[in-house]
Amino acid sequence: MHAQKQAGLVYVGASVLRGRITPEQMSVAADLAQRYGSSEIRTTNMQNLLLVNIHEQDSATVSRYLGSSGLHVAASPFARGTVACTGSEFCKLSLTETKGFARWVVEELDDRIPGFDQQLKLHITGCPNSCGQHWIADIGIEGKKIKVDGELVDAYYFCVGGAVGKHQAFARPVGYRCVAAEVPDAIERVLKSYQAEREQGENLRQFFARHSNDEIRALLAGGVSEEFERDLAAGPVPHGVEG
Ligand code: SF4
Repeated sequence: MHAQKQAGLVYVGASVLRGRITPEQMSVAADLAQRYGSSEIRTTNMQNLLLVNIHEQDSATVSRYLGSSGLHVAASPFARGTVACTGSEFCKLSLTETKGFARWVVEELDDRIPGFDQQLKLHITGCPNSCGQHWIADIGIEGKKIKVDGELVDAYYFCVGGAVGKHQAFARPVGYRCVAAEVPDAIERVLKSYQAEREQGENLRQFFARHSNDEIRALLAGGVSEEFERDLAAGPVPHGVEG
């Protein structure tokens, strides 16, 4: 919840886990916007909702109703910051299933790193086209297939250190990849390393910026790891994201 410029009004953000919302949740949000706000709802590029022009004295009520419908206002940084592209369920270009996977990753990270105190943008994208915008994420993972015991399985390639705004940067391909089932392990390792090794007041973006690709790869892998080339997109990629 954040104060607006207009005295006495706030806007309320609701977390829509990996961008999937039910008709019932939409009805709840619409009713609340109509009853307590100006009947306006905004969608964000983080796949979340904003209810605007809410009177300050009603904000706790709005938050409570949103939360009881599963649209949490005080969600964990993992739920708030996870974005997933459409994935193989509805996109014929996708190499991986992304939506159910994103939910599972968030649940795992909530369990493994409770109380994580940093904003985290974790973007999951099912192919190099980057509809999940993994190039501007703290941790952006790109879907691919790898062979395990002769079978092709979902896997992800890691890019780290992207941001927009004050510290804008494209995420760096760090040469680490793993099967989808091991993604929470890798993220847990790198985030716990950050918690253990951060300098006074150092945020996650600064931590990633002062470590080399080799160092980040070792933190993700939990030890020395072979460097893997990122598979390039089959067609032209958007300007500025080559690499
Ligand atoms: S990034 Fe790829 S898989 Fe995901 S929605 Fe876009 S084209 Fe489909």
